[in-house]
Amino acid sequence: APVHLASFCASIMDTISTVAKKKKITLTSDIPEELFVEADEDKLRQILINLLSNAVSYTQDGGKVELTVQDRQDAEGAEKVLIKIVDTGIGIPKKDQPRIFERFYRVDKGRSRSSGGTGLGLSIVKHLVEQHHGEISVESELGLGTTFTVELPMLQE
Ligand code: ATP
Ligand code: MG
Repeated sequence: APVHLASFCASIMDTISTVAKKKKITLTSDIPEELFVEADEDKLRQILINLLSNAVSYTQDGGKVELTVQDRQDAEGAEKVLIKIVDTGIGIPKKDQPRIFERFYRVDKGRSRSSGGTGLGLSIVKHLVEQHHGEISVESELGLGTTFTVELPMLQE
């Protein structure tokens, strides 16, 4: 079913804001008012909650997390929705970036201990993105921050 991204993301940001506030993290978003994507609402929620929770967990107090949504046409003229989660957090070492979508993979026990996760979040996210025939990618600089980009087809076949 078509999901109205502006209102959908606003409610998700609301959910995350409680945790962000505790860490004095500035949470912002930039979402076009008229954009819809055909997706399973529960799965899309799980994708965004997982990525935003990671962004907040792996960003130091006083940092920033931003959610942006854009639309674009790919080379074949198909409409795509681009969702970016940008943080100013601890970053991910280059050597670990190819492995973070594997089940149970965590960058190192030291940095992740306080968050007490299992290392399943991103493998689930990748699976859900692929169920929507989308793609996920990561760009990150150690100590500077991380951007996850999810590209979804606007319409499903
Ligand atoms: P959980 O299963 O609770 O989500 P997790 O957060 O450790 O546990 P993933 O969400 O799969 O597991 O993330 C895998 C690893 O990738 C994390 O342990 C963390 O080291 C790294 N990571 C993920 N997102 C970020 C981010 N935004 N900034 C820095 N490191 C990150
Ligand atoms: Mg996680």
